[in-house]
Amino acid sequence: MRYAMVIDTKKCVGCSDCVVACQNENRVPIGYCRDWVIEHAKGTFPNVSIELRSERCNHCENSPCVRCCPTGASHYEEGGLVKVTRHECIGCGACVQSCPYDARYSHPDGFVDKCTFCHHRLQEGKLPSCVSVCPTECMYFGDLDDKESKVYQLLQNRDWKVLAPEVGTKPHVYYLI
Ligand code: SF4
Ligand code: SF4
Repeated sequence: MRYAMVIDTKKCVGCSDCVVACQNENRVPIGYCRDWVIEHAKGTFPNVSIELRSERCNHCENSPCVRCCPTGASHYEEGGLVKVTRHECIGCGACVQSCPYDARYSHPDGFVDKCTFCHHRLQEGKLPSCVSVCPTECMYFGDLDDKESKVYQLLQNRDWKVLAPEVGTKPHVYYLI
């Protein structure tokens, strides 16, 4: 089992419903976020296009945040999920500094928080909240080890990229381009 998210940048309209859904689902404090949407301009005038992209923790296979955590609070779980055990986190912020994607934030209650791919929902057989509300259905979630899964099929049949591949983290959020 290897969880992955595949996001179709051609279908994203930048509505940020994914961000609002995540904030509600995970009780993210006002002013913080576990996911966000960016606009990335590509090309040079007059051949310019805008890529809209919903970003979050990439649940990296080779994650510096897990490596640097002094208490083991940051750890891997089933399917390669990267999670933080709140009561083991001392809030030192080493993981926040180590993440090349700026995917973590220091919660006002003293621990570090980030996207969990809505692990609590997965355990109930549901999709992550962001995936379930996207009005254009541009986000897909599943098991990359399952060759019948939509995520596996999409990566076989479309061009894709991961963010900052040069840093060697082996992200598990993929963007169709
Ligand atoms: Fe860790 Fe950042 Fe990778 Fe998430 S995106 S697993 S926080 S290094
Ligand atoms: Fe580990 Fe918490 Fe320190 Fe992050 S802030 S490195 S999760 S103890």
